[in-house]
Amino acid sequence: MFFGGHPFGGGMPGGMGGSGHGGGPPRGDVDTTKLYETLEVDKSASKKDIRKAYMKLSRTHHPDKGGDEHKFKEISAAYEILSDDDKRAQYDKYGLEGVSGDDVGAAGGEDLFSMFFGGGGRSRRGASSGPRKGPSVNHPLKVSLEDLYNGKTVKLAVNRKVIQGTPTECTRCKGQGAILEVRQLGPGMITQMQRTCDACNGQAQQCQYKSERKVLEVHVEKGMREGDRITFSGMSDEVPKMEPGDINFIIQEKDHDLFKRKGADLLVVKEVSLNQALCGFSWKIQHLDGRELVIKSRPGEVIKPEMNTKEALPFVKMLPDEGMPSKGNPFVRGNLYVMFRVKFPEDNELPTEVVEAIRKLLPEPDVPEEYDPMEVEEVHLNPADLRLFGKGGAHVSSNEAHDEDEDGGARPVQCQQS
Ligand SMILES: [Zn+2]
Repeated sequence: MFFGGHPFGGGMPGGMGGSGHGGGPPRGDVDTTKLYETLEVDKSASKKDIRKAYMKLSRTHHPDKGGDEHKFKEISAAYEILSDDDKRAQYDKYGLEGVSGDDVGAAGGEDLFSMFFGGGGRSRRGASSGPRKGPSVNHPLKVSLEDLYNGKTVKLAVNRKVIQGTPTECTRCKGQGAILEVRQLGPGMITQMQRTCDACNGQAQQCQYKSERKVLEVHVEKGMREGDRITFSGMSDEVPKMEPGDINFIIQEKDHDLFKRKGADLLVVKEVSLNQALCGFSWKIQHLDGRELVIKSRPGEVIKPEMNTKEALPFVKMLPDEGMPSKGNPFVRGNLYVMFRVKFPEDNELPTEVVEAIRKLLPEPDVPEEYDPMEVEEVHLNPADLRLFGKGGAHVSSNEAHDEDEDGGARPVQCQQS
């Protein structure tokens, strides 16, 4: 069979499978309402109403949005016929059979139906491939953190292909979008293959395009984030017999010199000297809306190298509600975190008299150990790297180390004791 099951079940007069259902006279009681019921419109519905109904239903039932694929195909197929004046007239008179029979010959009829009723993914328009909508275009839109904070409207010019004049039926495929190739495999054996028409790219129509320049006002909402999209529905290139796709602008957040963002929260990094960490600091920053904030430590507030937790977490403090506005609710803002780095003096940077003074002033000075220098060893420390911790001592010889290896592969001797 050329096409798989059709979504309208077995309720159709005359059947649809197999061969030869070409243009016979209408049978007694043909069903000419099913397609209208599928789109939930009246038989007298206008073209506009049919389109409206289709748009609404196809959105609801789109498989990408969790809709039922079968139902979706049914809706697309019904719209395919009812949106075309000729086909609709045929359908009203003769039911589904009339649409296939009069429109094209027997072989083509199967093709037509496979197209409408989902021939297992081989149909040229792919009833399973989604709504009859042209391809959408995504444009990245780089936006500064300031603009994401304050919101902004950007005017962007796009060029789109617009159909000029009336599209004409493709002469190559006679408006089928696909070409049926009959090949002889051997004596008495032929095979039929269907391939997309290359003259019209499977669109069944040929048309002239012109380029149209269009200025779009792109409204960047307060609080938008990386990856958020601003959609201009149906603004992509025009495609014959399809709804044009969308133009999407995808937000790309530019890096900021001062602020880092996560969700609605902002983070700044502040390096303070040991003096500032102990004795206080004030720091003027410009916020994303241009306000100047002076961040001041409270009297006696001590900035530490890390949090007093088991994990060595960086030392942070927070300014509530000074983060980013939330998208859709800009009055609710995130928080502004300040992460500190305490810069200690370098070796030998402090003169002896300063050290003596500090020793007297700071709490918990060193209490010298009492010992006889002749009986103990006095030692000093070298610089070190914690990543090398555990790697001290003599290297184990490679033979001993690999004896217990399960894969027992012959490995080259890597280590040698020197
Ligand atoms: Zn063609």
